[in-house]
Formats: sequence, structure tokens, C-alpha cells
Amino acid sequence: MCPRYKPVESPDESTLFPYHSLTPPTTADIYSARTVIAEYLPETALVYCEWLSTELDADVYLKREDGLPTGAFKIRGGVTLLAELAEQFRDTGLVAASTGNHGKSLAYAGRLFDVPVVICVADDANPEKVNSIEQLGAEVQQHGHSYDEAREHAERLATQKGYRYVHSANEPALIKGVGTAGLEIVSELPDIDVIFSPVGVGTSAAGYCLTVGEVADADVIGAQAAGAPAMYRAWQNGTLTPHERTETVAEGLATQVPFALTAGILQRRLDDFLLVEDNAIRHALRKMLTEAHVLMEGACATGVAAALQYGERLAGQTVGIPVTGRNLSVDTLQTVVDTI
Ligand SMILES: *Cc1c(COP(=O)(O)O)cnc(C)c1O
Repeated sequence: MCPRYKPVESPDESTLFPYHSLTPPTTADIYSARTVIAEYLPETALVYCEWLSTELDADVYLKREDGLPTGAFKIRGGVTLLAELAEQFRDTGLVAASTGNHGKSLAYAGRLFDVPVVICVADDANPEKVNSIEQLGAEVQQHGHSYDEAREHAERLATQKGYRYVHSANEPALIKGVGTAGLEIVSELPDIDVIFSPVGVGTSAAGYCLTVGEVADADVIGAQAAGAPAMYRAWQNGTLTPHERTETVAEGLATQVPFALTAGILQRRLDDFLLVEDNAIRHALRKMLTEAHVLMEGACATGVAAALQYGERLAGQTVGIPVTGRNLSVDTLQTVVDTI
């Protein structure tokens, strides 16, 4: 059962399982990934947002990643990883830990490429996301009180069963895949000045750094929930120290541990990084719903909240904001609607 790939030792003490590769993808790698995923996924729309443009006195475009299957951008990474998966793992399959959307992405891609998938989630994971992972044909194992406990469970399973462990950040194929969204933006909007990306484990922001940042020379600005600032601290201090608490409405961003591959890319290329309070995330969610009639997850609204926090500094600029996902739980939607 012993996997035959050459493992790379973990640079952070918190991860029990060695990685497959920690070499950052290049912008050229992302161009290649774009031709691969074009076979399986549609390009997503880039839509002018009247409300945010007026609010910020800027030209604001939303990259509608919620239009992808699974309703979130992560599917780009899942499809890219499965499309190039080594033969030795096709029968044994994959294991991963997820707060929801990473799991949905791998479940969808596993079904597409006929590879078995096991997803580990915390006991209190968003039940709608858990259901949809199961509906896509993956096995779900609920374990522990947090994403990080579920992650350690997945790492143990990988060792015991010989599954291909798919980490949510330290996977060049995922960054390369999600980066394709940035290339689509650059093709349509080459004079973009700035893009705001929410940051959980940092694949989305890393993808924008390597595309919208490198190719269009735009500023790439990351945004993380103040209640879960692990990657922010890593970016600020250049360390990979875990952060004990994660408390935020943006469950898609709740990780205690910052990860080396994405942290390295963000440290090299991210122009600014904001922390956003939950009340500002809720405000952005509410406004996007009532003013722009766009439904998004808390994780996604974090990017909108960061743009609103930037405020006047964006006047006259061409701004991109990805709608990273639409899988808001009905309970959270209810509390948002109740406060309108
Ligand atoms: C995962 C996720 C994010 C954050 O992306 P990372 O790659 O973890 O930084 C943002 N929004 C949504 C909807 C997500 O699912």
C-alpha cells in the first residue's frame, strides 16, 4: 500500500503527511492548465457591477466563479489535479480535508475522471456542503471539531490506506488550476488595475498573483477574516505559526495553519493584505444581496468587504472582484435576511 511517489518533507510541523511537490507553478504552467480545463469547464463571465462601481466611484467587475459546476472556483483546481493524476493513484483514489468547497471540487472531478474520493470534514461542517459532496459520489468522513482536526484525520488515512492526499494549499496543481480564472480576466480586461481576493489557505490569491499580478501588472490585494488570520500573520511575519482560534461567518476561510507554498507566493507578490471583521463581511453579504442581487458565501463577501474598506483609494480604477462561491447555508442566509 506504500505510495511510490517521492515525498517532499513538510516545512511546517503541523502537517503529518509529506507533500507531493512544493515547487510553485509558473505563469506558463497556468497557461497550460487553461488549455486542459477548457475541455471540461466553461469560461466564467466577467460582469460590470453597477452598485459597487457607484459605491467606489470605480469600474468594478465581478468574475462570476459561482457559475461553475459546484458553485465555487475550486473546481478549476480539482479538475486540473485529476487531469494530470499519476496512474498509480487512479484505483486507490484521493483523500482530502475540507470546509466544503475543496471537497465538492474533488468529488466532482473524481466522478468526472472515475477516481474514488474520500473527504474528511469537521463534525460541525456546513451540512448542505456535506450533502452535496455525498451526492457527487464521494465518501464523507466527519471527524473532529475543526477543519484542522479533520485534516489530521485525512493525513492519517492517507498513510494507512495509500490514498493520494490532496492538501488544500500545498498542491501546485490546485494553484495552477485556480489561476486560470486570472488568465480569463487578463484576456478580457487587460487594463485591470487591482483585484481583491479572499484568502483562506491562499490558492485563489496565489493564482491571481501569478496571473493578474504578473501578466497585467495589477495590484493583488488579499482579504482574510479577522477571526481567522493565520495566512495574514504568515504574510506579515514570514513565519508559519498556527493561529489558535478561528471564529468567523466565512467558514470557507477558517484555517488555523498557514501553509508554505501559498504563503511563499503571497509573500513574494501580494501587494496588500487586509483583515476584515465579521460585521463588515455580513454587511457586504447583505448589500450584495439587496443592491446587486448577487448571492455569495461569507468567504467571498470578505473580498467585497475589503474593497469597501479600501473605499476612496479605488476611485477611477478598474477593479476586479471574484465571486468565489455561492454555497451559503440557508441558516446563514436566514440570519442575513433577518437583519435587512
Ligand atoms: C476556498 C474558498 C475561498 C478561499 O480560497 P483559498 O484558496 O482557501 O484562499 C474563498 N471563497 C470561497 C467561496 C471558497 O470556497
